[in-house]
Amino acid sequence: MEPLRLFPQPVTPQASSTASRSGKSYLIWTIGCQMNEAESAKVEAMLSQVGYARTEVEEEADVIVLNSCVVRQAAEDKVAGKIGSLMRTKRNNPDVRIALTGCMVTGQEKSLRQRFPHIDLFFEPSEFDRLVEIVPELAGADGDLAELPHYYQPLSSDYRVTAHVPIIYGCNFVCSYCIVPYRRGREVSRPFDEIVAEVTKLGSSGVKEVTLLGQTVNAYGHDLPDGRDLADLLTAVNSVPGIERVRFLTSHPKYFSDKLIHAIADLPALCEHVNLPVQAGDNEVLRKMRRTYTHEHYRDRIEMIRNTIPNVTLATDIIVGFPGESDEQFENTLRLLEDIEFDKVHVAMYSPRPGTLSARWEDEIPHSVKHARHQAVERIQERVSLQKHQARVGQREEILVDGFAKGRWRGRTRGNALVFFDATGDWLGQTVNVEITEASTWYLLAEPVAIMATAF
Ligand code: SF4
Repeated sequence: MEPLRLFPQPVTPQASSTASRSGKSYLIWTIGCQMNEAESAKVEAMLSQVGYARTEVEEEADVIVLNSCVVRQAAEDKVAGKIGSLMRTKRNNPDVRIALTGCMVTGQEKSLRQRFPHIDLFFEPSEFDRLVEIVPELAGADGDLAELPHYYQPLSSDYRVTAHVPIIYGCNFVCSYCIVPYRRGREVSRPFDEIVAEVTKLGSSGVKEVTLLGQTVNAYGHDLPDGRDLADLLTAVNSVPGIERVRFLTSHPKYFSDKLIHAIADLPALCEHVNLPVQAGDNEVLRKMRRTYTHEHYRDRIEMIRNTIPNVTLATDIIVGFPGESDEQFENTLRLLEDIEFDKVHVAMYSPRPGTLSARWEDEIPHSVKHARHQAVERIQERVSLQKHQARVGQREEILVDGFAKGRWRGRTRGNALVFFDATGDWLGQTVNVEITEASTWYLLAEPVAIMATAF
């Protein structure tokens, strides 16, 4: 744990400038998961490296990259709306180059080209090399741009405290509702040493917290020849200089091994927070979802986690209204939520994704019933989250300050709770001991212990 600092230390980010060497600028629009955010950050790093400046104004951009998501219908609709709105931008400025990437593109390039002729380039996730087709400067760039770490932004004035690092792409599971395996392909783990080198670069550039990413992050290493797995990788990343905190997303209950649980408990940089999607608390629904585990197995993993990792916090994902989910089966999900008392629950109403197995079944649960079940989950979780937060009032917590929002500094505890506090000075990137003063369902208010100490 970081020793208490009485006064905030000035943060010295990597030397940077917002000026564009090429006089050109780019805009990146991203929707979807952390993997998309990380891949957008990679595109940003590449464009920055060849002298493009970031802009948020479409009319100013020379290059626009849309990073899409099709995991839910609502996300796909937003992407389609955004693509449509760019027709006017292209009409007003025919020189602007527009690229579409992300899960919408995989295997769909031909039909997308016909639907959206104003888009200049379609490239699949991680096909970063193809950007050269609309950014010719990338062809003449020094060094191998594909080796750039995610979030490496030499021309940006932004100082990043946290960064996401993809470690495994794709997924070998075939959950019956999920489009990801069709759009992201089978699992491919990045080389162990490449990841450690990337985290080392991030640590030396001032990043304090990394989150290792994968659709099934704890499948990491299954396809590597040397037998090293996520726990081994966490052990290596734990000792990277400058990296104070390590997290990982998203895990599958089937692979949440005892070895992994012990690694979280034993490695000082590993945050005591586990995000383990359960999706449903009923075995028949889990079987139809093809999740490959039972609720008993899931409960066993949670018990092992709680018994091994002191002060661990837990998050999960739930889908309500899956085809055929009866009232009784849904009650089993509510029972699991009441029994486990998660710190955070992400709940979504089922929507069929064309091409998946469950999309062939009748989506017979009325929207009103899905909505009511969604609210029932939220009601339980709001009560549980508030109780857990209230129990922390008066306690001391270590938070990493990662931003300034609405006049307050913002940070997260090691257990991933959101904390705000008032203070003058520059606290960005500082690890601060605070005392929790107020609790709400979604966040905590706090006072830095250092300031309280000086006031006595
Ligand atoms: S584990 Fe299931 S839900 Fe998660 S990405 Fe793979 S197929 Fe989709």
